[in-house]
Amino acid sequence: MTLPAVKRGEAVRDVPLLLTPGPLTTSDTVKHAMLRDWGSRDDSFIAMNREVRERLIDLAGARGTHVCVPLQGSGTFAVEATLATLVAPGDKLLVLVNGAYGARMVEMARRMQRDVEQLQWREDEQVDCHALDSCLGADQGITHVAVVHCETTSGILNPLAQVAETVARHERALIIDAMSTFGALEIDAREVPFVAAVASSGKCLEGVPGMGFALIRRDALELCRGNAHSLSLDLFAQWQGFEKNEQWRFTPPTQVIAALRQALDEHASEGGVKGRGARYARNHWVLVDEMEEMGFRCLVAREMQSPIIATFLMPADPNFEFSHFYERLRSRGFLIYPGKVTVADSFRIGCIGHIGETEIRDALDAIRTVLVELGVSNVSPIPT
Ligand SMILES: *Cc1c(COP(=O)(O)O)cnc(C)c1O
Repeated sequence: MTLPAVKRGEAVRDVPLLLTPGPLTTSDTVKHAMLRDWGSRDDSFIAMNREVRERLIDLAGARGTHVCVPLQGSGTFAVEATLATLVAPGDKLLVLVNGAYGARMVEMARRMQRDVEQLQWREDEQVDCHALDSCLGADQGITHVAVVHCETTSGILNPLAQVAETVARHERALIIDAMSTFGALEIDAREVPFVAAVASSGKCLEGVPGMGFALIRRDALELCRGNAHSLSLDLFAQWQGFEKNEQWRFTPPTQVIAALRQALDEHASEGGVKGRGARYARNHWVLVDEMEEMGFRCLVAREMQSPIIATFLMPADPNFEFSHFYERLRSRGFLIYPGKVTVADSFRIGCIGHIGETEIRDALDAIRTVLVELGVSNVSPIPT
């Protein structure tokens, strides 16, 4: 696999590499695609927008069954709009929660006064289909189930195929938060039945942040007129706008879409989902293997880890002060991420974006140097 060249010259070194799960490091060519203005009602923009929507549908094997409804904003806006549009007042949503993004969907549903329940697991445990199966068997009122494919909170991967099979067997509708996996891990609508999958421009597709999108079954969306409590988050109305004249209802994020089109070209030339996923897996295993060799420990068991982001337990050594570790890595050109889980003190390193094994090895070298500078000789975690 050849990665489009990442410039490693002095000038670029001033800008740190983002070892974070979004925004992330983008290629120079993706950045360059934003260097012009687009009229939102002009044919050239309309054609570009149409192309992007169609390519996103094709990435999920969803042509003919689903439509792509993009929405301005970060990924959360698209998730909230999807719930608001698909889960009607009178429906009931079950959310599978093993991290902050699952919990956020519960909070959204409560805010919009939808009937919502949750099944909850620890942040270092996968959601479990036996519990899901009994819950759906016991409560015939549940109409929709929402699951997070990769809980970016910890990096844990949930068993999407089994969840989809269970939900389909009970004839309920599945909503997937695929934000941190779309483009890197296979999600094929012909194999994994879903009513909606939600993702965004700025994660594994390696575009810039600013647009989310939902791939929604057309036959389900057709029944959703008037469900949404919100004008701007109404994906039925958003879709109707595209059906009418292929235009956005409100000002589109034109440069974000231009960058995404370029990013989709680069995704395709890397070998699509397979190629992208292989590079991230390489990044992830080089990172995790070397960190473990240094003595760091992962929060999540190896067999449950995604190639998206890794969570490391905070070392017990009093010389290991996270803010100092962060600042020194930053001054060497690498931005990492604080922890987000509640079960343990931790920090995270992202494996996604326009980076390859070379950049990961450079980051590992910087980590080794910084540990020496800080006088940390043992990175074993705080005993629990
Ligand atoms: C990034 C992400 C989101 C959306 O977060 P934003 O900050 O709004 O872009 C939602 N779910 C998951 C799993 C994510 O990783």
